[in-house]
Amino acid sequence: MKIYRDVFVSEKKLVDVICNMCGEKIKKSDNVLHDYFHAEKKWGYFSEMDGENHSFDLCQDCYKKLINQLKISVTENEDEKT
Ligand SMILES: [Zn+2]
Repeated sequence: MKIYRDVFVSEKKLVDVICNMCGEKIKKSDNVLHDYFHAEKKWGYFSEMDGENHSFDLCQDCYKKLINQLKISVTENEDEKT
């Protein structure tokens, strides 16, 4: 015989994302986050940051400001269909 009881499990839900560059919240429409840029980098051998894990998020406006500073433009790839 199995005996059950109700349990409540705590879980984390993403509610907001803050842009690391401007400090503003990523905009939402109907409680859905607009798309934003997320980067993660685990630094390895032959870097001054060996062993460090970095991540940051950028709103679309700050992402555009960042890529406009690149000497060589970003590469635009068509989505690969499977
Ligand atoms: Zn921003």
